[in-house]
Amino acid sequence: MFENLQDKLNKAIKTLKGQGRITDINVAATIKEVRRALTDADVNYKVAKEVTDRVKEKALDRKVLIAVEPGQLFVKIVQEELTELMGGQAESINTKGDPAVILIAGLQGSGKTTFSGKLSAYLKKQGRGVLLVAADIYRPAAIDQLKVLGEQVGVEVYAEPENKNAVEIARNAIAHAKKTGKKIVIVDTAGRLAVDEQMMQEIENVKAAINPSETLFVVDSMTGQDAVNTAKTFNDRLNFDGVVLTKLDGDARGGAALSIRSVVEKPIKFISTGEKMEALDVFYPDRMASRILGMGDVISLVEKAQQAFDEDEAKRINAKMRANKFDFSDFLSQLQQIKKMGNIKDLLGMIPGMGKMIKDLDIDNNSFAPIEAIINSMTPKERSNPDLIDASRKKRIAAGSGTTIQQVNNLLKQFDEMRKMMKKMNTMQASGKLNKMMK
Ligand code: GDP
Repeated sequence: MFENLQDKLNKAIKTLKGQGRITDINVAATIKEVRRALTDADVNYKVAKEVTDRVKEKALDRKVLIAVEPGQLFVKIVQEELTELMGGQAESINTKGDPAVILIAGLQGSGKTTFSGKLSAYLKKQGRGVLLVAADIYRPAAIDQLKVLGEQVGVEVYAEPENKNAVEIARNAIAHAKKTGKKIVIVDTAGRLAVDEQMMQEIENVKAAINPSETLFVVDSMTGQDAVNTAKTFNDRLNFDGVVLTKLDGDARGGAALSIRSVVEKPIKFISTGEKMEALDVFYPDRMASRILGMGDVISLVEKAQQAFDEDEAKRINAKMRANKFDFSDFLSQLQQIKKMGNIKDLLGMIPGMGKMIKDLDIDNNSFAPIEAIINSMTPKERSNPDLIDASRKKRIAAGSGTTIQQVNNLLKQFDEMRKMMKKMNTMQASGKLNKMMK
């Protein structure tokens, strides 16, 4: 996410962060570079200039030149300005009403249907009764797609495949929600490949008829300035409440995330970073600014871990680790939980300083596949006692998992080292040494 922008901003700030002498000349040069990084990211020139002018003003005011840590102070100022640019505070959606109605709008392919499914899962997790409504009257496939997602996340989907009146469908769906005691209705509407009058009129009619408590506009962040322009057009007609930026996982530049707020004056409320139902996050401008500047985002990382990890399972594994009984089955279970947290490269990027290190590495969620295949090819006995695996079994496991004997050997070796390390930490903890070391 945002690799190009991160790269350029970090290069711009590097001279100030390094030990080199700080002068008003290199501060000015850095500010110019920051501006260029923003415009290269597809941020409108005027906006980029306003931001960097404010950075300059604050840098002078806080006397960056004579600060003890000029580089860090400067980064902090840029972080504050990017946060402001993206809206300052996180903003939640309004779910008041009986039922509360959330209208989802956007162009076709922007990720509306996927987002509707994700949002329903997100709200369901909070214990709300949710109804999904397929109000795309043009594409029968869209109804099926929503049904599949609904089934996947365990949320009922309301559809009337024969009905060509979106307003009627939405109204009937709300009545159905009332009857069945659902508190939130999410209406997924039809999109077009480009903005057109008929679509706008239709969605305007739906909005007027059902009076939603929240109207969300979904847009593909990879389309950069186009995303901003489309948002503006939709907002002029719909006066929506918030933006959902999708496909951030594929967006190297970050222009839409940075500009939408200042151009449209509506907050980004959610971001989507993958096709899986879990890949949805509330948008926090400050955390995003930190990530863009390579400062990591530990808070989000911990929150993601809390969501993905099953507490009982975590306790069980912890007990096994302490008893030096952590085995390959536990390892497999942990891998599966980590995968639930989302895109691995993005997750690693949340660790401060890590983004830069892994920038050019090709890490994807399939990186775990050979490891999982190897473990799956072991017998249960071998998983808890890898010493049982002799040369001939290694050969079988490699063949069974489609890997090489060397890969099997590597995994066994690394696992052995990991177990030794755990054992060492357990002993240290028992003797109180670990606490000392941590301090
Ligand atoms: P709609 O036409 O607006 O309803 O768009 P869809 O929900 O059908 O999404 C279009 C395509 O984008 C689908 O293939 C989705 O799987 C994919 N998609 C949606 N959101 C994301 C995302 O955040 N990241 C990625 N990589 N793909 C996404």
